[in-house]
Amino acid sequence: MTEAATPNAEKKRSFDTYDLVVTESVEITPGNKNTRFDIQGGKKLLFKAGQFAQMFIPHEGKIRRTSYSIASSPRHADHFELCVTLVKGGVSSAYLHNLKVGDKIQAMAPLGTFVLRDETRDMVFIATGSGVAPFRSMINDQLEKGTKRNLFLIYGHRYEPDLVYRWEWEEKAKANANLKFLFTLSRDTAWTGERGYVQEKIEGFVPDLKAKNYFICGLNNMITAVNDKLLALGVPKEQIHFERYD
Ligand SMILES: Cc1cc2nc3c(=O)[nH]c(=O)nc-3n(C[C@H](O)[C@H](O)[C@H](O)COP(=O)(O)OP(=O)(O)OC[C@H]3O[C@@H](n4cnc5c(N)ncnc54)[C@H](O)[C@@H]3O)c2cc1C
Repeated sequence: MTEAATPNAEKKRSFDTYDLVVTESVEITPGNKNTRFDIQGGKKLLFKAGQFAQMFIPHEGKIRRTSYSIASSPRHADHFELCVTLVKGGVSSAYLHNLKVGDKIQAMAPLGTFVLRDETRDMVFIATGSGVAPFRSMINDQLEKGTKRNLFLIYGHRYEPDLVYRWEWEEKAKANANLKFLFTLSRDTAWTGERGYVQEKIEGFVPDLKAKNYFICGLNNMITAVNDKLLALGVPKEQIHFERYD
């Protein structure tokens, strides 16, 4: 039976279209903007940490729908935030970067199944670039719920100024003994912290590897490299979850 033929199909649909207004837009690193969208018309957006929105981008007389992970905690139903990397020659990322406070846009949300599961296990989050966006939502969600699980974030970029939400991670780890993070930079020769790719850092950072749940987010090459590494380390594939951005 198709959705249209299903009685009460509208009620069953978990996503909706929202009218939004930009209430904040901040360049948080060179090339990355954190933008807050307030939901208009008294509607509420109920989503699970890790889900994404499809932003409606006007382009050449048509609407392009482009996916972005929600970077804010699901505890806020009246607004959400995105972290968007400006892609060279990119249509949607440039459009979103040009939005000003007061601008209006539409989005469809919430979408996707990249959400936390089996919250009885410790969790390891591995990202590069703006792939860290859904982990801001997931980690904030877990901390707000007062989780007793250990949360490990392995976050990679090229250069130190690129690290997205760096100060937030540092402050949250200070305030929450169960949140541990490792930043690793692949090209920054002046950086005195960890150097190299995220997949090289898992063994040294995460204790009792096989007992954790893994969440990986970012570009395809990194996800493949991390997934291969985890499988080689003996992590059961059921404990590995990922979201590909390309
Ligand atoms: C589920 C999901 C969630 C996502 N969440 C986020 C998010 O939170 N933040 C975010 O910044 N992006 C996110 N993305 C990526 C986003 O959807 C777009 O692909 C990205 O912003 C580029 O779109 P664009 O229209 O600017 O570029 P396009 O006009 O589509 O492409 C321009 C050029 O850039 C290349 N390109 C496309 N995407 C990328 C990329 N990510 N990096 C480098 N080169 C690229 C293309 O091959 C093309 O040559 C997500 C993708 C998915 C599928």
